[in-house]
Amino acid sequence: MREPSKTFIENHDGRIVTFADVEARSAQIANVLSGLGVEPGDRVAVQVEKSPEAILLYLGCVRAGAAFLPLNTAYTPAEIEYFLGDAEPRVFVCDPADRDKLASVAAGAKVAHLLTLGVKRDGTLAEQADKASVVFNNVARGPDDLAAILYTSGTTGRSKGAMLSHENLASNARTLVDYWRYTSKDVLIHALPIYHTHGLFVATNTLLLAGGTMLFLPKLDGDAIMRLMPRATSMMGVPTFYTRLLAHRDLNPGATRHMRLFISGSAPLLAETHREWRARTGHAILERYGMTETNMNTSNPYDGDRVAGTVGFPLPGVSARITDPEIGTEMPQGEIGMIEVRGPNVFKGYWRMPEKTAAEFRPDGFFITGDLGKIDDRGYVHIVGRNKDLVITGGFNVYPAEVESEIDGITGVMESAIIGVPHPDFGEGVTAVVVRKKGSDITEKSIVSTIEGRLAKFKLPKRVIFVDDLPRNTMGKVQKNVLRDQYRDLYRS
Ligand code: AMP
Repeated sequence: MREPSKTFIENHDGRIVTFADVEARSAQIANVLSGLGVEPGDRVAVQVEKSPEAILLYLGCVRAGAAFLPLNTAYTPAEIEYFLGDAEPRVFVCDPADRDKLASVAAGAKVAHLLTLGVKRDGTLAEQADKASVVFNNVARGPDDLAAILYTSGTTGRSKGAMLSHENLASNARTLVDYWRYTSKDVLIHALPIYHTHGLFVATNTLLLAGGTMLFLPKLDGDAIMRLMPRATSMMGVPTFYTRLLAHRDLNPGATRHMRLFISGSAPLLAETHREWRARTGHAILERYGMTETNMNTSNPYDGDRVAGTVGFPLPGVSARITDPEIGTEMPQGEIGMIEVRGPNVFKGYWRMPEKTAAEFRPDGFFITGDLGKIDDRGYVHIVGRNKDLVITGGFNVYPAEVESEIDGITGVMESAIIGVPHPDFGEGVTAVVVRKKGSDITEKSIVSTIEGRLAKFKLPKRVIFVDDLPRNTMGKVQKNVLRDQYRDLYRS
């Protein structure tokens, strides 16, 4: 059970939020919101820097019956204009420093109330909350009522608002607490952003339900994480966390002795990172798979084999199947196709996009994830890439992950991305964008000749391009659309 005097969040600046504070402060925030006329179902849009107070705002919103709508801190005023226009929130909370540049955007979108919240517990929302009652009767909400809207990162077309219900969030948190064995003794290193499902729901809801503690860092900082490890029991990170920490001189079994669990998700973890981490620390990283629309779908087991390059088994209560992307029929066991999922974790649809929603659900309730993958004979799910990243060359399908993992296995290669770019003969040409390891002088020719005997000819890259870094978003995902754009004229003479 949650102990009122216990710490829920310890911020990097030393500020502590206990479970008693969670109760009192979220009540004060809920009182402010209700006082502004926020009613069940109203949206409260939020673009603020990471802080414990921002988490209390999330909880205050839900207690007031509103839908919490966090926005990436990198969004520009022009982008915010789209989100406010689309979501029509009653309240918009922004950083005090951004107030002046966002006031006209909020007014243009007819947002009734613009408040501010800073990282030092400052801003107009904090001031009003200080004066509000610490008691609040939660607005009653049913399991299917809206708790949050999270806009998908959307690398193509407009960002879509995924509507998440109370039951979507609660059921997933319950499952993860059990599956990953979180208890009130756990202390989580939290260096993720909190406008995304990973840092917001996977981390926060799980630790809140378990009654554990989170150590908040504003962003990925290898030194700070290494300093916190002796006090922590687990960490949730994107793959970049692990590659960054592997480069840290202090990472060794002694440094991670107090840790029981390292979790990775949001982007594929290289099998090599998994192996190196195990060799350096003795811990097998637990990789899981989820998305904004579905919360968490699959996870490697707590006990049992955590298999590198797989995302594990469907979580309890979640069904997963592999279908033919064109016609939707189920694929034979072990074959690659579209990953579809169904369960209490799966969202209610896209905000004000009924056609888009209908197009992405099957009549029997399965959600078409857009990820391609397979389920092996032991039941482990493998992801081979997004459907839109599939390369079709001379009429053949090339799954990027298959070629990437061959190239990544070559000595001298750090990582790679396979993309399809327009090709006059083949439609698309398989193209490898490769980052060499420090000091390596591996060539295009040697890469192609190494994998030649291992992959069918049509899967071999027509060109290999060397770069210093792959472009990534904040969640560690390689931005293949950026690469495709950059190299779109590669095969045009
Ligand atoms: P987002 O909605 O931003 O969380 O992105 C969800 C997408 O991230 C999924 O549809 C997958 O393409 C990708 N993803 C999440 N976890 C993994 C993982 N463990 N391995 C590979 N891809 C992942």
